Amino acid sequence: MGDVITADEQQAVLAQHQQQLARLTQQHQAALDKRTKELAETDAQYQKQLERIAQTQQTALAQREKKQKDLVASYEHQLALMQVDFKETTMQFSREKKEIDALYRKKLDALNTQMAAMTNKIGELNTLKERFATLAAPAPIKNKMSDSSGRGGPLRPVVFKSSPNAYLEDELDYTIAKISSLNTTALGLQELWATRYQLLTQLPLGAPLPLALGLNSNFGPRVDPITRTVAQHSGIDFVAKVGTAILAAGNGTVLQAGWDGAYGLTVQIKHAEGYISKYAHASKLNVTVGQTVTRGQKIAEVGLTGRTTGAHLHFEVLRHGQFVNPMQVLVVPGSKRTATE
Ligand SMILES: [Zn+2]
Repeated sequence: MGDVITADEQQAVLAQHQQQLARLTQQHQAALDKRTKELAETDAQYQKQLERIAQTQQTALAQREKKQKDLVASYEHQLALMQVDFKETTMQFSREKKEIDALYRKKLDALNTQMAAMTNKIGELNTLKERFATLAAPAPIKNKMSDSSGRGGPLRPVVFKSSPNAYLEDELDYTIAKISSLNTTALGLQELWATRYQLLTQLPLGAPLPLALGLNSNFGPRVDPITRTVAQHSGIDFVAKVGTAILAAGNGTVLQAGWDGAYGLTVQIKHAEGYISKYAHASKLNVTVGQTVTRGQKIAEVGLTGRTTGAHLHFEVLRHGQFVNPMQVLVVPGSKRTATE
């Protein structure tokens, strides 16, 4: 029974254990305190670092904001400058456009004035031409020379005016259209005049001698120089030297070129509108039947062949087989034109 522990011994062990526990507890408390202190320091450090970071971020943010504001202000300023510039450019453009418009309008007005003058001139020429055509045309075809044919169209006085309110482009279009219309009218008139000129050259209107001199006896009743009785003279006589050129009074075709009894050596020319011209008592013929002749062309020479008392040209004009007074047909300088047919 030697292993039995006594109460005292138990008491001593317990005390020992208690001391040990107290020591351990003290140690733990110290370690805990140290650890708590360390944590507190670390926390403070982190806190400081966090504050620093926050401050840095705040500064950066403020700088960025300021930068953005400056940028916006700069853009706004530039934009304002550009707007001013644009306004000035627009005004400048508008001013230049007005100047160009004014310049072209001035030119357009000048052009219109010229055109109006030209139209009036054409009108005057047309009136003059009408008078000449009426004067030159033989009475039987005078109505053919009037403007009633309608060819070429009537020339109305044209008013060229520029409206300051109209657009320049419209004005230009209007003027171009007027020029075109004027050209058409001028072309029509030109065509009409050419047609009439063509018709007039085909009539026996020209002088049958180089100089319309030596008109000896007129058309109508007279005492025949050979028979000494009153007889109808079917033409007019031009006294001229033998060999003087006899000229075609108008364009036409030679109908006769040879001997014709009392007429002697004779030429007949067929013209337009049923006209025939006849040239008698020639000494020599220069054309043959069927030949085309033009006004003023030499067709024969003055002579005294046939029934005549002296050298002269006997000139006759017929229309549709009827004798007409050549004096009413001829356009001879100094010849007297009668109003009656
Ligand atoms: Zn005669």
